Amino acid sequence: MAFSFTLTPEQQELQASTRTFAQSALRPLAANVRAEPDPLARALLTRPAFEQGVSAGLLSSLIPPAAGGTAGGGIDAAVALEEVAAEFPDYFINMAGPLIALMPVYASGTPDQVRRFVGPFLVTEGAPLAAMAFSEPEGSANFDAPAPGGVQTTAVPDGDHYVINGRKAWASFLSGWDGDGPDIMSIVCRAPGGVSVIVAEREHLAGHIEVEEHYDLPGLRGCLTSRVRLHDVRVPKANLIGAEGEGISLTRNAFLPSGASIGVFATGAMRKAFDVALEFATTDNRGGSAPIIAHQSVGDILANAKGRIEATRLLSWRAMDAILGGHPAGAEWALHSKVFGSDTALTVVNELIQVVGVTAYDLKHPLMATLNDVLAYPIIEGGNVGIRRRQLQAMMSDPGYDAYAMMQ
Ligand SMILES: Cc1cc2nc3c(=O)[nH]c(=O)nc-3n(C[C@H](O)[C@H](O)[C@H](O)COP(=O)(O)OP(=O)(O)OC[C@H]3O[C@@H](n4cnc5c(N)ncnc54)[C@H](O)[C@@H]3O)c2cc1C
Repeated sequence: MAFSFTLTPEQQELQASTRTFAQSALRPLAANVRAEPDPLARALLTRPAFEQGVSAGLLSSLIPPAAGGTAGGGIDAAVALEEVAAEFPDYFINMAGPLIALMPVYASGTPDQVRRFVGPFLVTEGAPLAAMAFSEPEGSANFDAPAPGGVQTTAVPDGDHYVINGRKAWASFLSGWDGDGPDIMSIVCRAPGGVSVIVAEREHLAGHIEVEEHYDLPGLRGCLTSRVRLHDVRVPKANLIGAEGEGISLTRNAFLPSGASIGVFATGAMRKAFDVALEFATTDNRGGSAPIIAHQSVGDILANAKGRIEATRLLSWRAMDAILGGHPAGAEWALHSKVFGSDTALTVVNELIQVVGVTAYDLKHPLMATLNDVLAYPIIEGGNVGIRRRQLQAMMSDPGYDAYAMMQ
């Protein structure tokens, strides 16, 4: 559906039902997950809710109709995502993040590849996992640099197969639930013809993937990100997506919708922080004669925060609509949603913590969980410094750049 400033009755219903689910089911789960010290145990705590999401058709609703799924438009996705992001963003990252691995398949996969690789996710039971294995321990910002820099993972032809070796890091669910890998892994690697995307299936990974470490994240604690070594992963050549050398554009494009979604994650986090700070400011005197919102300085922070939240919501909803709807400036919308949304969230949540003061500086306080989550947003889905602003710079450096394209 084309962008509209007014939610349809169906979107309002989606918003209300997702809010109820997020507050009643995800909020208590989030508290349990955050308190668990072990990264793998934390992720496993989220698995029953993951399975419930699958049985409710959530995975399918994240896959476009052209590939057999039931995804609606960008506004539908944003409306639902904001509600989850306000309570337990980890849940949405766990469901949707792995599906970035399918983006190259939608873009350049053959009909047979779409059937084989997307099929396992069009289900209503189980907990199927994908992984978009792009990032590497040596860095990812310069993945497109020529060898010997850039992507270090190699794919060497051997008859009808590629043999893949290298290390991957940070990607959601690289290890799968059990260390033997996810159901499919889209591996960004260097083949003879250049950077390429090759899909390894679980049968290719088992016995050839070694989990070196699960990262212990300060925020988004229910997300499982690991560093793994791939050794002699033999994958049929029929699993190459597109052509050798197409991997740079496939990878850049794969992260655009998820980049746009970071603005929505940011909106959910800021909204949550605002609710907490406003409640405190309107009910707590801190020993004075009136609730602290009576002080102009407190009101100023709250007013600034609210304006930035609404601005980020508008930007990110527009970006989601544009990137999923094929808008000619969809990529630019997505990049601004990613950069502006994530940077704004960090500023706003920090300022709202100043409203509450020392009471907020306790790991059990909801603002601390939100702060640790938003610390991730400038860094994940392509860091704002090393990747995202550079992509905007490249766009604006192009002689054909149209600064008004976003207005269409
Ligand atoms: C919860 C979570 C989930 C994730 N999921 C995935 C996933 O599914 N798949 C995946 O592949 N990754 C995933 N990641 C990793 C994430 O996408 C990172 O954004 C990505 O690894 C890039 O990191 P980076 O931008 O810090 O790059 P790095 O290469 O590590 O760069 C680090 C820093 O170096 C500097 N720098 C480097 N090169 C330049 C340059 N040319 N110009 C200017 N500055 C430069 C910048 O300051 C940059 O911030 C995930 C991470 C987390 C925490």
